[in-house]
Amino acid sequence: MIDALSDAFTAVQAWLFEQAVQPVLYATGQMRYQEQGYVATEWFLLGAIQVIVLFLVLRPIEALAPAERWPDRRATRVDVLYTLLNRLGIIPLVIFLLVSPLFDALAAQLRSFGFTPFNLDALWPGVTDVPLVTFVLYLVALDFVDYWVHRGQHAVRWWWELHAVHHSQRQMSFWTDDRNHLLDAVLRDVIKASVALAIGAEPAQFVMLIIVTRMLQSLEHANVAWTFGPAGRLLVSPVFHRRHHSIGVGHEGRFHGCNFAVLFPAWDMLFGTADYGRTIEPTGIRDQLPQPAGQERDYGRGFWAQQWLGLQRMLNPAR
Ligand SMILES: [Zn+2]
Ligand SMILES: [Zn+2]
Repeated sequence: MIDALSDAFTAVQAWLFEQAVQPVLYATGQMRYQEQGYVATEWFLLGAIQVIVLFLVLRPIEALAPAERWPDRRATRVDVLYTLLNRLGIIPLVIFLLVSPLFDALAAQLRSFGFTPFNLDALWPGVTDVPLVTFVLYLVALDFVDYWVHRGQHAVRWWWELHAVHHSQRQMSFWTDDRNHLLDAVLRDVIKASVALAIGAEPAQFVMLIIVTRMLQSLEHANVAWTFGPAGRLLVSPVFHRRHHSIGVGHEGRFHGCNFAVLFPAWDMLFGTADYGRTIEPTGIRDQLPQPAGQERDYGRGFWAQQWLGLQRMLNPAR
């Protein structure tokens, strides 16, 4: 069964590559990028499968048992666009093209200083190099980085103004995960890639890791009131993350919010930022509310408006 599926996948990948990618590479004289093109085709296909599975599984669940009922779903549409741009590889490709020259230069610089990356999996031979243990180690290590990056996105004023694009959705659904400012995504990816490089994690080895993580992140944003019961202490649940998006508790107070963890709420429990409140509260940012509660601030409806307003807020956070 698995063999048949993987054969079918490879056949579709080869077909798509020959029909669509190769002709473009030929026409533009970029044949030297054939190999990368083949990998990109794989990512595109894996992304398309993810989006289809998410839609088929999560959309009916949201319709049957929503955490919030909306008179219409118009505001969710822009998040569908963010999801497609991200999961089908368009935004990651742009970021890769921007960041990889920077990275190559950095890696060359480090080599010239005689620096060899530290390998987390070489820590305890016989234990940490068992594939499953290595997988869990890197998963936990990178999730720890995610937690602190997220703390930064809330605590640093100009960074929050970019991250606010993610929080400004008032109809949060499983599509919302990828709704981010492009510059925010670049920053986060540079930090994560630097750490991954420093601890010896090869992104290519983590295809499954990235896919599983992304599926979970989509589920966390779903419009459902699931707490995962006791397992909610181990994995971030939709209710736990909805709290992070709640107006007020999600972005105010001593820590500028709560429930920053991406996969494991253990970080929030450890650093005192967990909030296991179960009431479903409206999502968004306080200054979006009509006066006098807020300032009716506009974060933009469409993709470009949200990106442009985010840049303006970043450059002028004092208002
Ligand atoms: Zn946040
Ligand atoms: Zn979120």
